[in-house]
Amino acid sequence: MSVEGSQGSTGRYRPTNSNDPGWDYGQPVDENRDHVKCDFCGHVSKGGIKRLKQHLVKASYKGTMYKDVRKCDKVPQDVVDVLRSFMEGKQKITEEKQSKKDEMIRNVNVYGNDDDEVEEVMIQIPKKRKGPMDAFVAPIDVDFRPRAPNSNENKKALENIHGYIADFFYENSISFNCVRSDSYSKMMQAIVQYNDPSTFKPPSYNDLRVKILKKKKEETSNWVDNFKVHWETYGVTIMTDWWTDGKGRTLINFLVNCPKGTVFLKSIDGSAHIHDAELIYKMLKDVIEEVGEKNVIQVSLEYLCFFLSLLFCLDFIHI
Ligand SMILES: [Zn+2]
Repeated sequence: MSVEGSQGSTGRYRPTNSNDPGWDYGQPVDENRDHVKCDFCGHVSKGGIKRLKQHLVKASYKGTMYKDVRKCDKVPQDVVDVLRSFMEGKQKITEEKQSKKDEMIRNVNVYGNDDDEVEEVMIQIPKKRKGPMDAFVAPIDVDFRPRAPNSNENKKALENIHGYIADFFYENSISFNCVRSDSYSKMMQAIVQYNDPSTFKPPSYNDLRVKILKKKKEETSNWVDNFKVHWETYGVTIMTDWWTDGKGRTLINFLVNCPKGTVFLKSIDGSAHIHDAELIYKMLKDVIEEVGEKNVIQVSLEYLCFFLSLLFCLDFIHI
């Protein structure tokens, strides 16, 4: 992992914009910010600065024992005090943020967020035509039956739900085209099928970044492996697709097409090589070797100059 930060005038490492006092008492080992060496006892904590602080506050904090954390036996008490008060402040901020978020979520009610909306919904009861018996029968104005929301209430609720979904798109600048993707429809369908709203929990930042990503990567690579059999049977066309992302990087996608379908093989940041035909040629050559030279019957090279094709022909005459 590369280490972003500075050595400063003290010659000590500290990540950019970090005010974490932990960095005053420990330093990364071999430029790896996840491995931090304790200034006092030399122990290397392998869970970043957070783990080092747990090591320094003597493996316990506010009655919580940090499991698997080795206690520091050389740290002075004043350092422990500094770190504990920092950790306490940080924990308080996290708790406050969480409770604000919980409160915000509790306020989400698609069947009306405030009294006005509820009233508006309640008066939508169809009026009954008066008949000859109405003058003799006392009207029943209390309905004791638990009521399923009527169509007007549902219409209003759906409007509210659409508002929440739209807010998500606007707040995060997500392209509106995303709603045309299959995964968007599947996601919505999956959520509404879950029949216990009280235990529903969306994936966290960490879930998406680690656990789920790992699982999906495995699923995808298994799927691609199964597909490779078809490459040998039918032969493939390698297709390239070039585009520039928001950061101005030129990304080159490599896709492998065979009659059974198209597989996205990989994406390479080609910004540094875009004007270097030989390097681009090398990247393509690597891809062909990865797919298996004998399986490739065609290479579709969008925007590639003539002499690059020539270099190709010299090496892969049969393609
Ligand atoms: Zn130590």
